Amino acid sequence: MPIHLILPLYLLFMTTTPEKIECLIIGSGPAGYTAAIYAARADMKPVVYAGMQPGGQLTITTDVENYPGYPDGIMGPEMMENFRKQAERLGTDVRYGMVTAVDFTGKPPYKVVVDEKHEILAETVIISTGASAKWLGIPSEEKLNGRGVSACAVCDGFFFRGKDVAIVGAGDTACEEASYLAKICNKVYMIVRRDEFRASKAMQHRVENTPNIEILFNSETDEILGDMKVEGVRIHNNVTGEKKEIAVQGFFVAIGHQPNTEIFKSFITMDETGYIITQPGSSKTNIEGVFACGDAQDKIYRQAVTAAGSGCMAALDAERYLSAKHHAAAH
Ligand code: NDP
Repeated sequence: MPIHLILPLYLLFMTTTPEKIECLIIGSGPAGYTAAIYAARADMKPVVYAGMQPGGQLTITTDVENYPGYPDGIMGPEMMENFRKQAERLGTDVRYGMVTAVDFTGKPPYKVVVDEKHEILAETVIISTGASAKWLGIPSEEKLNGRGVSACAVCDGFFFRGKDVAIVGAGDTACEEASYLAKICNKVYMIVRRDEFRASKAMQHRVENTPNIEILFNSETDEILGDMKVEGVRIHNNVTGEKKEIAVQGFFVAIGHQPNTEIFKSFITMDETGYIITQPGSSKTNIEGVFACGDAQDKIYRQAVTAAGSGCMAALDAERYLSAKHHAAAH
């Protein structure tokens, strides 16, 4: 057959026949790559779709000093590059693409669509799509991100040792992070938009009783000041209208996270804020053959090392699931 006829037929075949994948991993943060490392070593031929932000949230942090095994710390992007290389060396197929739709009805294999066109039939699916920090959405916040603006006190607080910082938010995360910062920094200003906290009473009391935390109620951020680095913040009181500038060197945003789980919501059981609910002590979701790990299912710890640990759990659960299935089919 002439080549000009073979090619269109080949392309037609490519677009209409779904690709079969034993272990599909959606997301490429520490959870996804750790799942891939384990799945590859278990001969499950994992395919990782790296998603919108390959490498995940760590690619937007600078130094990572709390991940065990790096005595001198490591830059977030470099660490994620290492995760990827390790997963690939062991046989993972890492692809750049976004999973745009899933159909978890019935039994596996499940249909998954990548970039709205490429169809996959996946025997097991590991969801490691992570979460994204919510931001205030003001231009100076974006301009100074990584130059004193951060959404993770545990990751970046250390760089503000002995300095003055501000933190926005009034939930459990903000209180926990303010307490953490208070141990490291000279002074912590808490910018709270209402006249009360959302956090649990215990957490509230903790910040109220910390002498170097000053709580600024009814306060909203107008602008973070500074050109190359954070030098202050301008806030206004939304009751009195009074404006003021506070000199700070760090500005932390702790107004919640949004798990990246939207495309799964018609199938997977989640809590009211979209975090996937896994069976206690496992990575199993309510759907057979679908597992979840990392920040997509963890709103409490949210650390690279806990995400990696849960990624390992997901791969082991997926492997056990497939072995049991193959064993049952053979008998
Ligand atoms: P929350 O949604 O509970 O709180 C977000 C906070 O940010 C609220 O105080 C909210 O204000 C404020 N906020 C939201 N948008 C803005 C904005 N644009 N400007 C200023 N302030 C804003 O998120 P958290 O991350 O704190 O907590 C998420 C969940 O995780 C909760 O269920 C929490 O209990 C849980 N958690 C538990 C922990 C623990 O048990 N140790 C630790 C951390 C979290 P407002 O109150 O006015 O809406």
